[in-house]
Amino acid sequence: MVVNRVPLLAGNWKMNLDHLQAIAFVQKLAWTLKDAGHDVADAEVAVFPPFTDLRSVQTLVAADKLPIAYGAQDLSAHDSGAYTGEISGAFLAQLDCTYVIIGHSERRTLHGEDDEQVKAKTAAAVKHGIVPVICVGETAEDLAEQGPSAVPVAQLTTALEGLDASADILVAYEPVWAIGSGQAATPDQAEQVAAALRGVIASVLGEDAAARTRILYGGSVKSSNIAGFMREPNVDGALIGGASLDVAEFSSIVRFQK
Ligand code: PGA
Repeated sequence: MVVNRVPLLAGNWKMNLDHLQAIAFVQKLAWTLKDAGHDVADAEVAVFPPFTDLRSVQTLVAADKLPIAYGAQDLSAHDSGAYTGEISGAFLAQLDCTYVIIGHSERRTLHGEDDEQVKAKTAAAVKHGIVPVICVGETAEDLAEQGPSAVPVAQLTTALEGLDASADILVAYEPVWAIGSGQAATPDQAEQVAAALRGVIASVLGEDAAARTRILYGGSVKSSNIAGFMREPNVDGALIGGASLDVAEFSSIVRFQK
């Protein structure tokens, strides 16, 4: 099956930009992309602001019909109840979030999220009609001991368990050693792991799911290295942290030339 996977360039803001800054940023991003003649058919753009920004972003995007998708950086595996500090998928769906990041390495490392929690959160996102962006990636130690693919493959295999073959998902391969380090993987390395991850999707969810699911690379992506990643057949976009916080830089990434 030949499927045209529209590239996705997604900015993970992490804990940056309050709701007023988010409004200014999204407006400026929309103007910049419009001025540059950007067509969303060529590449989809998404931002992942902090929870407290989402309502403002929703209002702005809806009012001005901006061609910018958005999502949250995490969600609870539960629907509602006594879970102080958590945000449910039902609430995110009410805010028209298209996507939600799940299992980012900072959640895994700083908040002890394990593969079973990532699996539960993935299922919760799908249940509420939000596309999970399932993050996987190896540490430098994993890389030295087990090579590049073993850990991401194991993480994704668990995350996909029990999902319906028709589930709409996204995968982000983010080597932990490349995140925020300025030391991106090479396009070759990203392609090798992305191909292995597509194999996991094929074996767990089937060939159709593998053919249509977009796999992003993340880890020190910037305007000067995005093109190399986008030339790889199994890399369908990028999850961008630091470089997504600068409108001009993020716009150049979105407007990558192969
Ligand atoms: P970075 O972060 O682009 O700053 O390396 C990527 C991420 O954490 O998603």
